[in-house]
Amino acid sequence: MNEYDSNRIYDLTSAIGYNKTNIKKEADCFVLNTCHIRNKATEKVYHEIGRVKKDFKNLKKPLIVVSGCVAQAESEEMIKREPYIDMVIGPQSYQKIGDLILQHERKKEKINATEFDVISKFDELEKIPNSQNKISSYVTIQEGCDKFCHFCVVPYTRGPEYSRPFEQIIDESKILVNNGVREITLLGQNVNAYNYKKKYRLSNLIRALNNIKNLKRIRFTTSHPNDMTKDLINCYKDCGKLMPFLHLPIQSGSNKILKLMNRKHDQGYYISIIERLKKINKDIKISSDFIVGYPGETEKDFQDTIEIVKKVGFINSYSYIFSPRPGTPASKIKLNNFKENEKRLKILQNILEDFQNKNNKQYVQKNCEVLVENKLNQQEKYFGRTKHMTPVIFETNNCKIVELANIKITSFNQKNLFGIYKINKMKAA
Ligand code: SF4
Repeated sequence: MNEYDSNRIYDLTSAIGYNKTNIKKEADCFVLNTCHIRNKATEKVYHEIGRVKKDFKNLKKPLIVVSGCVAQAESEEMIKREPYIDMVIGPQSYQKIGDLILQHERKKEKINATEFDVISKFDELEKIPNSQNKISSYVTIQEGCDKFCHFCVVPYTRGPEYSRPFEQIIDESKILVNNGVREITLLGQNVNAYNYKKKYRLSNLIRALNNIKNLKRIRFTTSHPNDMTKDLINCYKDCGKLMPFLHLPIQSGSNKILKLMNRKHDQGYYISIIERLKKINKDIKISSDFIVGYPGETEKDFQDTIEIVKKVGFINSYSYIFSPRPGTPASKIKLNNFKENEKRLKILQNILEDFQNKNNKQYVQKNCEVLVENKLNQQEKYFGRTKHMTPVIFETNNCKIVELANIKITSFNQKNLFGIYKINKMKAA
């Protein structure tokens, strides 16, 4: 979502005359668009500002804007702690960035814009066309979360669930496709909770996007198991452009830990969704997120996680040791032994890697449909992704970016597939 927001911040600042530069010392404004999910996020922002300060020691001070969830969470504190910062702007206020920069230029005052104004945000953003033209681009459809998992800061930094107007999303998607975009990933912290005026769900959006000529692929992320409704699952049967890959976080395989996390679903329910998805589309593959060492996790709970990993066979997942986020309920519970957590994470990651390798190995000597996204620097090599999001690097001197290419896979590593471009029309896997 930060990538989407950063692109929109670029569109908004372009409207008041700012241009991007790759030469750091040439910049007269830095926008640090931050994420609060990862550990030590706040400290990383101060370090980055420290680096800018050093680079500009003998130069005119640039305007420093901190936006995103760290700005939301820390707010005024950031300006007090680091006077080099001129402005903090929360993720639900960045539509005002142009006006705020102009205001700062006039008055030279520090600005704290961290109120939640999500409706006006999307109404304002609608006035400035999305200039993004990458082959694969994002569209935010939903923000915030009402689920309040005990480890997560999103409900506090992004606010309550909000769904953008249906037509606004379709219009923005059409603009992107006209710009040359061929794959759209619909975004939301709880994307499948999308519900506009109790009339339009995520399934309605997918079906509408499926009819946009020249759009080739549709994805969405990130989903909560409880919002995997029947109408959405059916899209995997009816919508040819919806890719058969779903990122569906479970976090833990233990019902006890899921309850402590306040996830509001159990292992059995999660498995029943996977079974329904696979029944409707046997090609579908799943990835997930795992938190290891959540406070109270015993060896038995950890083994429940291993069991579900083996049962589902996730093809690509994210896994971390639990680390407390200030202000969340889980931050007040006694931590597990760190060494034990590290040991468990290693075991889990080895198993996840095995599944990833096994999945990638299946492609070798097969032909595979790849959406070509770009050419690698100064090489006759191109980059694209399979339907299941696996990166593919292949060689050719005869390929068009944007094309749905037929690639013969010749080798693999844990993260990537490698292959050669097939000119002949062979059946793609
Ligand atoms: S559902 Fe996702 S975004 Fe919402 S609180 Fe839980 S982890 Fe955070």
